[in-house]
Amino acid sequence: MREKIISYDPSNGEAVGEVKKNTLSDISQKVANAKMAQKEWAMYSPEERVKFFSSIAAEISAKSEELTELLCQEMGKDYHRASGEVQGAGYGAVRLAEQVRNAIKPKKEMGTTIKYVPLGVVAVISPWNYPLMMAVNLITPALIAGNAVVFKPSEETPLIAQAYFDILSKYLPKNVIQIVHGDGEQGRALVESDVNMIAFTGSQVVGKDIMKRAASNIKRLVMELGGNDPMIVLEDADIEQAARFAVASSFENAGQMCTSTERIYVDEKVVQEFQNEVVAIASNYKYGPWNASNINYGPIINEKQRDKIIAHIKDAKVKGAKVLLGGENHPERYIVPTVIAEVNDTMLLEQEETFGPVVSIDSFSTVKEAITRSNNSTYGLGAVVFGEQNAAYVAEQLEAGMVGVNKGPGSGYGPWVGAKQSGFGYHGTVSGHRQFTQTKVIN
Ligand code: NAD
Repeated sequence: MREKIISYDPSNGEAVGEVKKNTLSDISQKVANAKMAQKEWAMYSPEERVKFFSSIAAEISAKSEELTELLCQEMGKDYHRASGEVQGAGYGAVRLAEQVRNAIKPKKEMGTTIKYVPLGVVAVISPWNYPLMMAVNLITPALIAGNAVVFKPSEETPLIAQAYFDILSKYLPKNVIQIVHGDGEQGRALVESDVNMIAFTGSQVVGKDIMKRAASNIKRLVMELGGNDPMIVLEDADIEQAARFAVASSFENAGQMCTSTERIYVDEKVVQEFQNEVVAIASNYKYGPWNASNINYGPIINEKQRDKIIAHIKDAKVKGAKVLLGGENHPERYIVPTVIAEVNDTMLLEQEETFGPVVSIDSFSTVKEAITRSNNSTYGLGAVVFGEQNAAYVAEQLEAGMVGVNKGPGSGYGPWVGAKQSGFGYHGTVSGHRQFTQTKVIN
């Protein structure tokens, strides 16, 4: 009998549903089927491919309530946020499809034609924290570029992935999209299978493993990995605005967001005021199950992740950090809003991605020191600076793919891109979309 993956509601541990795990021979069969189907899919024009996405969006829109509830139950985020994610998978994906279509148009100049042809079969491997959006952001450009896709969602959120897959496969030609359910074992098998590209969003450690396994056939890679985002608060920052941003960013999705603010460095002249503001705002934060009213964040996805967050908090305390808010008496399945000051670079909070509702703060005496502390990380996904006079200079010095000045990192006008060990390849914008194609020059 096939092994099952049971999906649990992280707010109460009750089973929401189950899917069958795929065997390793299923995976090679699915990749072979996708390979066959891709040949016909490649014959459609990009305009025709975009049309499929309009029908898909209409069905997602018609089913938005049930999809939103499923996403809430399986992942734990509140209804409002989950609903935004479902919309992104529908008409948001149509807008994305249009952008890709424009990006991959052939170019002809002085007798030379540059074409952007499909790569073949793309494995899309995605995480649980934004289980629809992270998949949509990679599946859409892969398909519009004329590739077939084998989708391996996270084992934590297989039901919402299956629901999305069911809608895609209802409209797309047979076998152009495939789904593989499983954990790391299935992920590794898919990476080593006969796919041409791996588009991955997930942790740094898994990203490294994928790169190693993909090397044998020089498979194309897009790697959107984890972060440990710093924030610098300069002397002339609007402290209330900076504190509001810090709490909102650190606690978004219970801190389970790749670009959530994890480490904050504040000018010593304003650190006390900043800490007071942060504690005042964070004290009013409410957590609870997705269907409770007025919650700011939900449960932690699983026990292992919750244990890691608690271990990071304990480690900081043992090494001399000062807990300004929370830090203990976490109810089962949740982490209370936690603000920790006087952190240093020996602590796990500074060294690793915590991925929980924890704000860590330390002071600096010179801007150079703040920049050095911020850049002292293998990660380089997002970074933020609040302030006026030196803010633009600081933004230039920060080693991150996306830097926000008096706002969060990431822009609708730029690619979603990591630096250092937070990413390798990226998606979004013309150059990002083209990574899902083979560039071909004919003259
Ligand atoms: P994860 O790396 O543990 O798992 C991601 C996916 O990879 C899952 O589907 C998993 O089953 C699969 N997998 C596990 N081992 C594998 C292997 N050896 N080979 C192939 N596939 C394998 O990550 P997660 O816990 O699901 O997600 C959280 C992580 O994702 C965090 O680090 C977060 O920062 C990151 N993330 C990054 C972005 C971004 O845009 N950069 C966005 C969202 C999440």
